[in-house]
Amino acid sequence: MDSIIQSLLRWSSDNGIRLHPSLRIRTNDSDAPRSLAVFSDAFIKLNDIVASIPKSAILSVKSCTLAHRIPSAPYGLGSQLALSLALSHEIAQAAASRWHGYLQSLPTSAVPIALLWGDHDAFGVDSDGEEATTWITGTEVERAVRSEESQNLLDEIRHYYHSVAKYLLPRRCTISHFLYAYSLVSSRAFMVDAYHGLSMVPIADAFNHVTENHVHLECDYDVCPLCGSLTECAHDREDTPSYSSEHMDWQSSCVSSVPDTCDMIANRPIPPSSEVFNTYGARRSNASLLAWYGFALDGNENDTVGWDFAEVVQALNSSNPSSVEPSQQSYKAVLHAWLSSIGSMVTDDSRLVYRPDLDDAEERSFAGPSTVLCINSDAQLSVYLWVYLAICAANCEIDNGSVEANLSQRTQSAVDVETLVALLGAVMDKQVLLEKTMSTEDGEDIDLDQGNHMTTEGRGLACRVAYRHHYSGARRDARQRS
Ligand SMILES: [Zn+2]
Repeated sequence: MDSIIQSLLRWSSDNGIRLHPSLRIRTNDSDAPRSLAVFSDAFIKLNDIVASIPKSAILSVKSCTLAHRIPSAPYGLGSQLALSLALSHEIAQAAASRWHGYLQSLPTSAVPIALLWGDHDAFGVDSDGEEATTWITGTEVERAVRSEESQNLLDEIRHYYHSVAKYLLPRRCTISHFLYAYSLVSSRAFMVDAYHGLSMVPIADAFNHVTENHVHLECDYDVCPLCGSLTECAHDREDTPSYSSEHMDWQSSCVSSVPDTCDMIANRPIPPSSEVFNTYGARRSNASLLAWYGFALDGNENDTVGWDFAEVVQALNSSNPSSVEPSQQSYKAVLHAWLSSIGSMVTDDSRLVYRPDLDDAEERSFAGPSTVLCINSDAQLSVYLWVYLAICAANCEIDNGSVEANLSQRTQSAVDVETLVALLGAVMDKQVLLEKTMSTEDGEDIDLDQGNHMTTEGRGLACRVAYRHHYSGARRDARQRS
């Protein structure tokens, strides 16, 4: 194994990669298949650059031997498949590839990402993997490996191999080789910049994952998408024909002498003699880690259990056949109005409801309802799920005649949204008040048995709140006791 690391380090040095003097790359003895880990020999200061990788050393669709022949795909599954093709081809070139010193340090068999468990092309006959696939049936892992566009991601990968990759790879590169490369891309690739896109970044991919990471990768994303230049280039002039990029050597004249690197930077001080960790996404759940990286953490506070709209509706109907669900359109209208209202701010005082920490893109596209219609690892309901259930409850009350009857007739009008937003504000106010009333003095938990002194109205409200929380298993016993 030492010789593998020595070859990697020699190749890194030859390609201008600089490592912090206190950094040591070692094997992770416990792991199979083989993997590397990074350790500190001495104290490393905050903001120190622990590894600096010139962009000329990274392996991307743009830098590989097959560049110009691989159909480009800027993001998503397409970019993973294109990079898998580039990587497959370089691996097949063995010592002839200019990345050989790096490639020889990668795991020698497919990374056991959950997507490939039990797949004979990836792992041969693998009874463990086949059994493991039965364990993930109906879990968040199964949901994670479903593609957004279709139900079977693996079919899409196979289709790409048979329709595109096969014709650009040496004959000996079978679907097994391609799935091996895909598992490496899934578990190790980084988004680098507007030119290279998703890339294999030598050394940077040797750091293992924890949520509270020591280091992170920084790259200048905004480079010329046509030639990769960090500084002014010929493409900055609008009259330059874009086809000229196809004949441009990205390593020579076009890329200036400004050092353009991907840098691993310490975002906290690193003590001596400890493993140095990166994060593969600060909010990754175990389901996502297992699906795309092939491992899970022992206890992960990012875990959630989610449902899509159809599943929530199904669950509601099975517990209350007369429930009336809002259309997705009216739900979203009410949700956005409510979240931007002052009345929703009281949500922050609730211990039963939380706001998922979403980045703007996720919030905007509202992709994958199950990522927001969920409960978290503290058995709190997401505010998105709470609003959905609250609207359903309001619709029920309308049907029972206990809420303004004409509300239901004014469907989707501005007044309707306004009325519901006000109603949600009032309900959340009451819920927070109730939570405070029911919480024990040490603030540990809410116990409905503590409510002996409560008024009948308070008890009724408590039951309804508990009912709405029956999705969070942790609260289920509270409902039964009431
Ligand atoms: Zn350019």
